[in-house]
Amino acid sequence: MKKSVRMTIDENICPANHPCPSIRVCSEKAIKQKYFLAGLPIIDQDKCIQCGKCIRFCPMGAIKAIEE
Ligand code: SF4
Repeated sequence: MKKSVRMTIDENICPANHPCPSIRVCSEKAIKQKYFLAGLPIIDQDKCIQCGKCIRFCPMGAIKAIEE
């Protein structure tokens, strides 16, 4: 059976106090921040295609792929 992958943002690592750089590289516009240029980013799992670009662009290493 094929495993599915879900991108998650670790709120213990992300400082949530600056514009998330991964928003700009997400081709699916799946990442949003609650406030203008700040706040813990949220990944819309319905839009995410699990490409993994956001993982590479997060300077804090806060985005992880979780196998389910
Ligand atoms: S894995 Fe790709 S599509 Fe999903 S949130 Fe990250 S950059 Fe966007």
